[in-house]
Amino acid sequence: MSLPSRGLDDQALFTQLESFRDADVRWREGRVFAYVYDAGKKAEEIGKRAFAAFSSENGLDPTAFPSLRRMENEVVGIAADHLHGGPDVVGSFTSGGTESILLAVKAARDHARKKSSLARPNIVIPQTAHAAFHKAAHYLDLEAVVVPVDPQTYRADVSAMRAAVDADTVMIVGSASSYAHGVVDPIADLGDLALERDLWLHVDGCIGGFVLNYFRRLGADVPPYDFSVPGVSSISMDLHKYAYCPKGASVVMYRSPELRRSQFFACATWPGYAMVNPTVQSSKSGGPVAGAWAVLHHLGDEGYLALARSVLDATRAIVRGVNEVPGLRVLGAPLAPLVAFASTDERVNMFDVCDELRIRGYFLHPQLTCEGSPANLHILVNPTNGTWVQGFLEALRASVEAARQREPSGIGAAIAGAIAGMDPATSTDAIVQMFAGAGMSSDGSLGERTAQMNEALDALPRPVVEHLLVEYFDRIFRPVRG
Ligand SMILES: *Cc1c(COP(=O)(O)O)cnc(C)c1O
Repeated sequence: MSLPSRGLDDQALFTQLESFRDADVRWREGRVFAYVYDAGKKAEEIGKRAFAAFSSENGLDPTAFPSLRRMENEVVGIAADHLHGGPDVVGSFTSGGTESILLAVKAARDHARKKSSLARPNIVIPQTAHAAFHKAAHYLDLEAVVVPVDPQTYRADVSAMRAAVDADTVMIVGSASSYAHGVVDPIADLGDLALERDLWLHVDGCIGGFVLNYFRRLGADVPPYDFSVPGVSSISMDLHKYAYCPKGASVVMYRSPELRRSQFFACATWPGYAMVNPTVQSSKSGGPVAGAWAVLHHLGDEGYLALARSVLDATRAIVRGVNEVPGLRVLGAPLAPLVAFASTDERVNMFDVCDELRIRGYFLHPQLTCEGSPANLHILVNPTNGTWVQGFLEALRASVEAARQREPSGIGAAIAGAIAGMDPATSTDAIVQMFAGAGMSSDGSLGERTAQMNEALDALPRPVVEHLLVEYFDRIFRPVRG
C-alpha cells in the first residue's frame, strides 16, 4: 500500500474508514458478551469528545500540561477513595490492566531487591490469575510460580500459596475478581499471609475492582478486597472496563509512596531532555485521562450505582437461566459480572454451542480446558444486555439442542493426533494449513464454524498452542505494500 500521491478529502476518507468496520463484531446491537463495556450512547459520546479534545496534549511533561496532571491526580484520587485507600495511597494512570500489572510487578521486584539480593525473583500466583502476570514474568525475567486453586470454587488456595512462597518471592497475587470465572479470591486471608511473611500482595482488581464495591452497596455478599484489607500492597483497576471509560484507561495504586518509588524511571545520561517517566509510555496522549475524567464525572456515583444494578440483575438472571438449561452448569459462584459455563452432558460440546450461538447472533468467548477448569464459554455482562437476557437464554437452549444433535466430527482430535507426531518448530506451515481447514483462515478471519479449531487447540499441549498462536499472528500481521 503506498501513500496516495494527493491527500484524500475528508469525506472520502471517513467513508472509507467507516467501511473498514463492515466485518467487525456488532457490539452496539448488545449481543456481544466480550471486549466492549457499554454504558450507552451518551457516556460513549462524552468520553470520545473529551478524548479527542486532549489527544494532542502530551503527558510526558506534567509541568507543561498541568491540565493532564490535574486530571490524573483527580482520577487516581477517585479510584483510591473508591477502594478505601488511606491518606498515603498513591497511584498512576496507565494505558490498561496489563501495564498496571507490569508496573506493579516491576515495583515489587525492585523494592525487594533494595532489601536483599535475590537469585531469581518469582511471583506466586493462583492458576486463575490473568495472563498479564505471565506476561510480566516474561518481560521482566521472573519466574511465575502457578498454584492450583480450589477445584470447586476456583478461588485461590491460600495454604497452597503459603507453601509455594520462598526466599525469592517478590509478590503474591489475588484477583477481585478473576477474569475466567468471575470469582473473588480470599483477599483477607492472602493479606494475613502477606503480613505474616512480609510479602507484597497485589490485588488484581482490573475487571472487578470498580464494580464490586457497587455490588456490595446493592446488598451482594462481596467480601472486602481493597485497601481496607491490611496486607494489600498494591491494586490494579481498569477504568476502561466497568467504569465505562474510553480504552487506554487503568490505574495502579500503592499503599504508600515508598512502594511506588521503584515503578518510576529517570534518565539524565543522554543528550536530550532530562527524562522521568512514571509509567511505560513516555510521550503519552492526554486523550485517555481526559476521557476517563469526563466519563467518571458524567456518570457520577449515582450513575454508576444504577448501572451496577442493571449489570447485577442481568448477571443473576443469566446465572439462574444457564443453570436451568439441561446439560449446562455455571463454574464456581461468580460475584462479578463474568459467567463461565460448561457442559455436563458428554454429547454437548461447548465449542459447538459457541458456533451455534454465533449463528444466532450472540458473541461469546470460548475458554480452553485448564487444570480443573473444563472447556467453557465466557460471558461478560454489560448494562445494555439486560433487555435481551430472555432472548439470549432461548438462543442458548436452542444452541445446546443443536450442538447435542451434531455428530462428533473427530477432526479436532485427528489434527491434534497428527501434530503430536510433528516438530512444531519445523512443521509450522503444515500445521497452520491444517488449522485453515478447521476454520482459522489465513486472512485473519474465522469461519462460521470454529469448533474443530477449538477442539484441536484444546487437545494440544499448551506450549504448542502458544507456538501456533504466535506463528498465526506472524502470518496475519504483514504489511500491505504498494
Ligand atoms: C482485563 C484484565 C486484565 C488485563 O487488562 P488489559 O486492560 O486487557 O490490559 C488483567 N486482569 C484482569 C482480571 C482482567 O480482567
